[in-house]
Amino acid sequence: MDCTNVQTLLDIYLDRELDAVRNLEIEAHLEGCARCSQSFGDRQIIRYGLKTESLYFKAPADLQKRIQRSVREAARAEMPTPWFSLSWMRIAAPMTAAALVVLLLIPFIKGPSTDERLTEDIVGSHIRSLMVNHLADVPSTDEHTVKPWFNGKIDFSPPVSDLAKEGFPLVGGRLDYLNDRPVAALVYQRDTHVINVFVWPSDKSAQISGPIKTRQGYHVIRWASAGVNFWVVSDLETSQLAKFAELLKSSVATSPR
Ligand SMILES: [Zn+2]
Repeated sequence: MDCTNVQTLLDIYLDRELDAVRNLEIEAHLEGCARCSQSFGDRQIIRYGLKTESLYFKAPADLQKRIQRSVREAARAEMPTPWFSLSWMRIAAPMTAAALVVLLLIPFIKGPSTDERLTEDIVGSHIRSLMVNHLADVPSTDEHTVKPWFNGKIDFSPPVSDLAKEGFPLVGGRLDYLNDRPVAALVYQRDTHVINVFVWPSDKSAQISGPIKTRQGYHVIRWASAGVNFWVVSDLETSQLAKFAELLKSSVATSPR
């Protein structure tokens, strides 16, 4: 083994990590080579010196904790933010509260009731019938003409009475569409005022009598009896319209169906 080989392996030799054959070869070389022996000596001194107490100092007691804390904080800063973290909770909590408030308010903000919506539809139909001058598909003052006209056009036979003797002559009838179904519209007149009576079947047991409602200057009276819905609408003065409604109710109750 030459000097170059020995110099290369000296540190490993010092660490006692060479195999037995190499150890013996190096030992033999060191005994016969002053230069390599000197290098070996120097390395031993350095190695010993590095082990002396004077090169070491005891760390402050809390240094370990400070380092551990710094490492933890650095690791946390690099981690992706979990969805349930505090920053998300700051956003999610008010949103959850707002959603809860909306849920609690839904019964109050769900919009107009079915009756309210129907009242507006009734008034709308009444106004349209006046605007387009399409009051009657069957213009007739004869209830015996108007009533049969609906046969085959709708799935029920509307009660039709002429109230001319009471001052509310029948003008005619037409088909209309309300409450998601075709309905019969019976048209009456009082002086220059037109009265639309919308009629369609109701629950047999329904006995409804609503108060007079006023929308856009038109008055609406509704009731249900004997399995029929009646919705009366006109710009006629309310006491007159109420009188008409009472007359219609009694005539329907007494007339054969
Ligand atoms: Zn040598």
